[in-house]
Amino acid sequence: MKHVIALDVGGTGMKAALLAQDGSVLFEARRPTGREHGTDAVVATILDFAADLADEGRSRFGCAPLAAGVAVPGTIDEKNGIAVFSANLGWRDLPMRRLLGERLGGLPVALGHDVRSGGLAEGRIGAGRGVDRFLFIALGTGIAGAIGIGGRIEAGAHGYGGEIGHVVVRPGGPTCGCGARGCLETLASASAVSRAWAGASGDPAADAAACALAVDAGDERAARIWRAAVEALADGIVLAQSLLDPSTVIVGGGLAESGDTLFTPLRDAVAERLTFQMPPKVVPAMLKDTAASLGAGLLAWDLLSMEVTA
Ligand SMILES: [Zn+2]
Repeated sequence: MKHVIALDVGGTGMKAALLAQDGSVLFEARRPTGREHGTDAVVATILDFAADLADEGRSRFGCAPLAAGVAVPGTIDEKNGIAVFSANLGWRDLPMRRLLGERLGGLPVALGHDVRSGGLAEGRIGAGRGVDRFLFIALGTGIAGAIGIGGRIEAGAHGYGGEIGHVVVRPGGPTCGCGARGCLETLASASAVSRAWAGASGDPAADAAACALAVDAGDERAARIWRAAVEALADGIVLAQSLLDPSTVIVGGGLAESGDTLFTPLRDAVAERLTFQMPPKVVPAMLKDTAASLGAGLLAWDLLSMEVTA
């Protein structure tokens, strides 16, 4: 069975798979990233994991994997295969593609950005399957996004395409980690909702999921916080709709786990704001926390198909 290695390196854990050409998962594994041991140890752990996955493929299917795809967080240079910077994992200008290629005996390696890889998988084999133009938004600690066009992700000229979390929707609003004020992620990320609800409820451990439950239970304070987040998110989506005109907006990440509590008012808030724009379908992501790993595998298959056509 022909297969590729798919690997998603996160701040705390790595998710991996062996992927068939149609995107089906033949084998799955997880391993801690071990960032408490330092950046060199993290890199060694990634390379060891990839080598073990290659062995797994050989013993299961009697043939070596054809390629590997790896998704990493932070800033990356996809073209040159360099993991430029990750605040979480501590590396700078790490030649990830070369290191993995060497460790895997010269195998072709694709390097991808974690959110854009996740968006690619959602668009091709997840919630956006069959959709030509979509926007993927991940509502987590921050808010990240990916622009899907014609079966691939538009990374932009400098690798920052799709950063909808840093669209300013409330000028003069809360200060963002990026230095600006009123960015979408300061208002509608899972962390922002958690912070607001912890403050309002007086329970420092109360999080966004607890806020969603309180909304469902009819709590007025929770409903106000939730509405503010939904309205900010709708403003961001409408801005994106005006610029990109996607047919589908796929929303994932922690906050999307609340299901209809988010999607019902969000669809209404988007619809209220549209004037001439055609309404996008606003749908929940399907692939959950395996999206980036699956997307890394798709990048590996794409790399092989490019080599065939070149
Ligand atoms: Zn920002």
